[in-house]
This record gives sequence, structure tokens and C-alpha cells, in this order.
Amino acid sequence: MYKTACPACGAEVQFRSAGSVMAVCAYCRSTLLREAEAVRNIGRMSEVIEDHTRIQITTSGVYEGKNFAVVGRIQLRYDDGFWNEWYVLFDDGTAGWLSDGSGQYVFTLPKGAPNKAPAFEQIRPGATIPWDGQRFVATDVRTAQCVAGDGELPFQVGSGYQARVADFRSGERFLTLDYSESDTPQVYLGVATTLEALKCQLLRNDDQVEETAGKLKGKTKALECPNCGSGIERIPGRAEHLVCPSCHAEVALSGDKAEVLARHAELARVNTTLQLGDAGTLDGVKWQIIGLMRCREFGSDESEVWTEYLLFNAAKGFLWIVETDTEWTRTEVLNSLPDISGNRVSLGGKTYTRKWAYGSEVIYAAGAFNWRVKIGDKSRVTDYYGPDGVLCEEMTAEEVTWSRSRTLSAERIASLFAKPAGSTAKAGPASRVTDSLQGFAKAASWILVILNAPPLFFDEHPGAWIFTGLALLLLWLPVWMGGGDTPGPIGDDA
Ligand SMILES: [Zn+2]
Ligand SMILES: [Zn+2]
Repeated sequence: MYKTACPACGAEVQFRSAGSVMAVCAYCRSTLLREAEAVRNIGRMSEVIEDHTRIQITTSGVYEGKNFAVVGRIQLRYDDGFWNEWYVLFDDGTAGWLSDGSGQYVFTLPKGAPNKAPAFEQIRPGATIPWDGQRFVATDVRTAQCVAGDGELPFQVGSGYQARVADFRSGERFLTLDYSESDTPQVYLGVATTLEALKCQLLRNDDQVEETAGKLKGKTKALECPNCGSGIERIPGRAEHLVCPSCHAEVALSGDKAEVLARHAELARVNTTLQLGDAGTLDGVKWQIIGLMRCREFGSDESEVWTEYLLFNAAKGFLWIVETDTEWTRTEVLNSLPDISGNRVSLGGKTYTRKWAYGSEVIYAAGAFNWRVKIGDKSRVTDYYGPDGVLCEEMTAEEVTWSRSRTLSAERIASLFAKPAGSTAKAGPASRVTDSLQGFAKAASWILVILNAPPLFFDEHPGAWIFTGLALLLLWLPVWMGGGDTPGPIGDDA
């Protein structure tokens, strides 16, 4: 370990890793470059965005049987969000990275430069490459800005440092090709993991997290919308993108600044079954609704509309509850990639079959989110049905995400969020089946009536009326039995 006094404030600065080339003074945030046996102050590092992360410098854990401690971090921001990369040092002096974005953790070790790798510009989400005898799928391809650093780091970062990274997954395995320094990438290989699996200690507790996260200087309870001035509930998450519930302005929080990104004055307020701020306990965990958005299907004749609620808990992170005309589901973003093979995918030994593919578009949003939600955001969605819910693949130009949805009963939702019984009632699942039955019944009814029009209206043939009536009844019975298209309580359109 190398210790020195900060040239700016005199505080002790440590370089625990021999591989560290810079350190940020914890007291005055001077950025210190290590040069031989001295340090050079190259100016102040920006403040990190205080978020809901549980990790801090000094957090320790175990990876592949080796003890590690967190010694530094960089914070990376892209157009729609940000994440932390924690620099960790093992007891044997080697180093690794613990990446932490939206409550998902990935641990990787540097593996040097590969023999061959695709050009960064050629990598698209969903594309596959062979690696280590396995097929890896590109799940995240983006250019991000390093906005701040903390502690000690193995390379020089500062504002203006651009990270060009492509992430790939294969089951729980994780591969990063980092093109930040040159066109030949640096390889990082590891796994998607959890803080429990890493046996992490010295994590920040809930109080420490609450104290720092989502708080603008001097304002602890509510934030004034920088567009319309109305109060926005204090944001209890690492969610630093807000859509004002009153004026629909898109607001970004960064450090102590709240900035209006876009205004949507024309949006009508949407009434939803559950509201921002509603709280409920699910599986022993207290969740609060911090954001909600309404989406519609595009690119097909169907015009399904559904509502997605973003729930937050300081220890557990994020969870979604989705409300359609016909059912409620709880939806978790997966931190491992299902194995895809044609029309089937498998996860945890269970097989799921492709059922629907459609486009999704955001038509309304309000509250706080862990990324920048924009009205008009589009993605391609594919649903796979299986024995343990529905696996859903969602693809945009930058990323592929997988989630799993399981049905929740209307009664459960009502009791969870203390809503009047019946206010959460649904028509029942399989709406699309009913819809197609209904389409068939409609078409067949017309054919039946047209074919039978001459005997019905021109012949004196009483039997034709009875026959046609019976045939119509047979056609529509399955539709009525299936629940029909009873409108749910979210019938209003944005
Ligand atoms: Zn200092
Ligand atoms: Zn506003």
C-alpha cells in the first residue's frame, strides 16, 4: 500500500492497489495521479450522484473463493440512465469489477485483449458471438460518459472520459468487450450475481441509503417541479428520472440540479387503479409505487393498452406490477439470460414457448423511474409461455432485457394496496384467445346472415329464423363463456 498526503488539503490518501494510477481525495475530491513516488493534483472530481446503491468503498466480499474489498468506483451516465462500476481489490493483489445498475449486479475479471473480436459499431443487441465454447448474446451496447469517480482507480477518468462497451450474456455468465481505450477491446468475463451470493459485508444500511439517496440539497420531503412548481413526492429510489404527475414534464435529477428535459403539456391526466405513493407488502417486503406508465401495442390490429407500475424497496430494488384489461402480473427483470432455441426458451430447467410478438409504445408516464422514460419510447416484445409464468424479451436499439411475469389475483392486489374489493377486478386471462374467438364469431355471423338472407326475408320459411338463431347462439356461446370483452376498470384512453 502506498500512502501520501493530499497536496490540496493534507488528508491521507491511500493507494491500496499497485495497479491504481489515480485516486480521488475523500475530503476535498482532488483528483490525484500517481507518478513514481509522488502524486499530481489534476483538479477536482465531480461529485458522484448519490443513489440507492448498498455498496460503498470498504464493502468486502468473496468471489470464486477469494476475499475482496471495494476500493474505488466510476459512475457512468448514458442518455437514459446511469450505473456504477466498483473497482475491487483481492487479497492477492489482483483486481476486478462489480457493476451495479438498477439493483442488478455483475462481477467480472479482466482477461486482457482477445485474439479476435467484432468491431464495436457492428455489434447489435440480440446478436450472438461464440466465446469460451458458449454462445453469448449481446444484451447491452452503448456509449456512456464517465461523470464521476471515487476512491482509487486503475486508469485515469474524469469528465469527458467516454466508455464504449458491449455486454453479452449466456445464462448467468457475463462478458464485456470494452472499446473505451482502443478499437481492440479489453475483455472482462464473469457472472451475474447478488450481494448475498458474494457474501458482501460492510454494506450501507437502509438509514445510510435513505440519508443520501434521491435527496436534493436542503429538500428532504418534496421536490418542486422545475417546470410547473407543483410538489413531487420525495423520490425514495435510485430513480433520478421523473415525470411530473401535474404537468408531465420530464425531469432529470443530477447532483443538486433538477433539469427539465421535455414538456408534454398536451397529455391528459390518466386515471389508474393504483396510484403513485400506494404501498403494500408482498412476500414480506414493503413496496411503494414510485412510477407508472401506460403502454399500447403498436404495429398490429390489436390495440391493447396496459399499465405498468414501478415498485421500489430500498433493500430489494425494483419490481413491476402490470395491469391489463384481463389480469394482474408481478414482473421481475431477470439477471440471467434464458437459453434460446428457435421458438422455445429455457430457464431453470423449464421450457417456455413463443406465443406473441408485438411492439410496445409508452403513451403516458408519471412519477420516478430508474431510467429516462419518454412518451413514444418503443420496443419489440416477445412473450414465451411456460410452466412458471411468462418470459418476456424486450428489445430496443441499445439493449435486450428479459423479465418473468406471474399472475396475481385481483383480490391479492386489492388487499395488498388496501383498495376496495372489486375495484381491481379483471375479466380473467386469455383475452387474446377470447378476442380471436370473438373475431371469428363476428365474421361467421355475417356470412351466416348473408347466406340466409333470401330464405329469411323472401321465403315464407319460419324454420330459417330458428336455424339462424341457433347457429348464432352456437357461434357466440364460446365467446360469452370465455369472458367476452368486458372492459376493465382502466377503460380511459390517454
Ligand atoms: Zn484532499
Ligand atoms: Zn410539473
